[in-house]
Amino acid sequence: MTRLRIVLLILTLASLPATAADRAAVERQFSDWLATSVWPAARAGGVSEATFRRETAGLMPDWSLPGLVPPGGKPPEANYQAEFKSPADYFAEKHMAPVVRSGRDLMRQWSQTLSRVETVYGVPASVVVAIWGRESGFGRVDLPKDAVRTLATKAFMSDRPVLFMGELVAALKILEDGHIARGEMKSSWAGALGQPQFMPGKYLGFAVDFDGDGKRDIWRSVPDTLASIGFYLKAHGWQEGNRWGIEVSLPQDISCTLEGPEKPRPVAEWERDGVKPVSGGRLSEKGLGRTGYLMQPAGRHGPAFIVSGNFYVLKLYNESDLYAAFVGHAADRIAGREGGPFIASWRAPSGFSRGEVRQMQLRMEARGVDVGGADGLVGFKTRIAIGEWQQANGRPVTCFPDLETVRRAG
Ligand code: CA
Repeated sequence: MTRLRIVLLILTLASLPATAADRAAVERQFSDWLATSVWPAARAGGVSEATFRRETAGLMPDWSLPGLVPPGGKPPEANYQAEFKSPADYFAEKHMAPVVRSGRDLMRQWSQTLSRVETVYGVPASVVVAIWGRESGFGRVDLPKDAVRTLATKAFMSDRPVLFMGELVAALKILEDGHIARGEMKSSWAGALGQPQFMPGKYLGFAVDFDGDGKRDIWRSVPDTLASIGFYLKAHGWQEGNRWGIEVSLPQDISCTLEGPEKPRPVAEWERDGVKPVSGGRLSEKGLGRTGYLMQPAGRHGPAFIVSGNFYVLKLYNESDLYAAFVGHAADRIAGREGGPFIASWRAPSGFSRGEVRQMQLRMEARGVDVGGADGLVGFKTRIAIGEWQQANGRPVTCFPDLETVRRAG
């Protein structure tokens, strides 16, 4: 490949400075910015000058991070050409089975710690272990990045500079408080810390010292990791004794547009309307608590669930219906409450792109419909909007995109 073609390729991949001289100029701006912007913010956040100087001396941006936006540059767009993906992939046994298998072993290995976590925070051990497995492969995943450098780079060169500035200051505060040495303070590419994958602000609010050594060490201490996950869920409203949700069979005459956190109904009402657990028995005797919400990640094209408020607590850990259902279901299987995959199969339509879904969402937004953001991803607001369009236009109501809806709905 010629030098020119390499340069063109780099320019096509991202709008990053192509030459060493351009990079050097950005790096000088970065150093100035550390002194003039980050230091005042850090001081206001309780970071001493000694800590700030020590941790930022010679700091350079990490050019290997994806999605960087140099000063004056344009943020790269999401890949809208990509095929729209069915939720089925997310729940594939190749992802689920290792979490369940190792989760069961680790439940036994850490049973004493986990029963203390259950007692103190009221969150089932299986739920804590499932999150640990999903977030970091039970701490086995390699965290490749220096957290401070990663967060500083993203605060200087991402499309969310304010958010990452706050996280950078929080990371410096963690070092100020002496919970971890800089060399051990590893993060993901996105700046999430340690085994529970807490962002630094979340760490300051919710990380716990559970092994009693005086340090909140979510990198190396399993007890600190497990208790931190438990405390986070408790502090966000986990209702002790309630399951996250249960897979159900949904009668045809119940509209899928009844989905979502804004439409709570007594579990007894869902039961009266004919909603049944797929595993048999009565819905009201399955430990969901009093209030239930319909949740269908693939609309009428996949499994249906009645979930409790605890499902929405799981979403506060990671804002995704698929994530919350994954960890909830993994927890049920770790605890031996469910044997295998969901009963209903995923039959979600395909053959269109994420960009086509986004175009449909933009048309809906133009009509004043709330789709939860036109990002080409299908959360519950988009599902409801599709269902309402299908209903109003005399089409089968599925609450999920297909070729016809992405081209015509709006
Ligand atoms: Ca500790």
